[in-house]
Amino acid sequence: MGSEKVIEEKKQGQALLTDHKQGNHKKLFIESYGCQMNLNDTEIVASILSEEGYNTTHLLEEADLVLVNTCSIREKAEQTVRKRLEKYNAVKKINPAMKVGVLGCMAERLKSKFLEEEKIVDLVVGPDAYKDLPNLLAEVSAGRDAVNVILSKEETYGDISPVRLNSNGVSAFVSITRGCDNMCTFCVVPFTRGRERSRDPKSILEEVRDLVAKNYKEITLLGQNVDSYLWYGGGLKKDFKNASEIAKATAVDFAQLLDLAATEFQKTRFRFSTSNPQDMSLDVIHTMAKHENICKYIHLPVQSGSTTVLERMNRQHTREEYMELIDNIKKILPECSLSQDMIAGFCGETEEEHQDTLSLMEYVQYDFGFMFAYSERPGTPAEKRMEDDVQLAVKKRRLNEIIQLQREHGAYRMEQFIGKNVEVLIEGTSKKSDAHWKGRNSQNAMVIFPKGDEQIGDFVDILVEDCTSATLLGKRA
Ligand code: SF4
Repeated sequence: MGSEKVIEEKKQGQALLTDHKQGNHKKLFIESYGCQMNLNDTEIVASILSEEGYNTTHLLEEADLVLVNTCSIREKAEQTVRKRLEKYNAVKKINPAMKVGVLGCMAERLKSKFLEEEKIVDLVVGPDAYKDLPNLLAEVSAGRDAVNVILSKEETYGDISPVRLNSNGVSAFVSITRGCDNMCTFCVVPFTRGRERSRDPKSILEEVRDLVAKNYKEITLLGQNVDSYLWYGGGLKKDFKNASEIAKATAVDFAQLLDLAATEFQKTRFRFSTSNPQDMSLDVIHTMAKHENICKYIHLPVQSGSTTVLERMNRQHTREEYMELIDNIKKILPECSLSQDMIAGFCGETEEEHQDTLSLMEYVQYDFGFMFAYSERPGTPAEKRMEDDVQLAVKKRRLNEIIQLQREHGAYRMEQFIGKNVEVLIEGTSKKSDAHWKGRNSQNAMVIFPKGDEQIGDFVDILVEDCTSATLLGKRA
């Protein structure tokens, strides 16, 4: 679930812009909420609509079409979208010809109910139906409501080259899997994004080749569960067992895909997100060790440090198995940074189980974390079968304890860089000072240093001299 929440703040709720295609006259205002997968999907949508005569605009008032790509992971994410719809409604009074569409997980969850609940909405499109957008827009032009929320067994958008929205020209996302088969009891993703399927490695490598030719320097391979990647000629992961012997023998797993990408593009950095503990193989860790250009950072959501809570969450691994995986990562990749997702106050969580979460955090000492109090999501197994019985005040207190501990560990991990040289890929000018660059090291820590004659997209060695809780400060080594 980690990828559901790591979208960069700056990209949330802003109109996303791309280079304009000559001859396009219609104007598209498009926004993306939620995870990096959503942002990448938004880029796919902009690419499909660019072929339909749309260029992006940052002015809501002049848009012919407004699209919002939505997230359902928490109630708050859905409330944010509802507020945006109110804003669109106000603008539609000035520009009545403007059409409004809702994309993504919330569209999939609410389906045509959306049209009843939000009168402003003209079209509702689920995550696997974006290629149907031209037909749906024709329906809307003909004065009919348009809904397509059919989930696919095959769709990976492997044949669409996404346009890069609000790009820094340095880092880009490439999606490699869609959907998730894990059925964690608290999660809506299996219902909104469907069953797990992988994209043809040829089309993945082609997209990377294209990005490298355009001078991109860092590629993040994306999926709800990247470690579960398995290409055997197409189709759902769950059907692999029925594949032919030839398909099985020539199948490509995530470690092999990483190896292929890192070997072919040695000057390009690779990251990946999100990993699920039960699917992360030793082969992946060894492949990371083999290639310097695979960043030494793993986002490894655990959600709870208690085996009994993990069982209720249907996480398919125990506390001990997770610790063994951490031991292997630390042994094979001693310089690797780690981040977590944690849920405080899941159904039935006792004080002892909460203490298990804190003690697991002490064991791992994560660099970063994404921490939330449990909030029930409609339609999930937890909502149907379990009681959301931890008092809100208790959830909040436990969450604060988790956040406080993460702060201590994050600060400790940052201090370990002081006095060391780190390689930084320059992403742009620091938000706080025009005289400084910002970029990240392999471990995903943000590094700030004074500008010299470097350029955006350069790799530079930086001597770390100081740090704040979230940033390393240094100078050219
Ligand atoms: S079902 Fe579990 S593994 Fe899959 S996206 Fe949700 S939290 Fe992540």
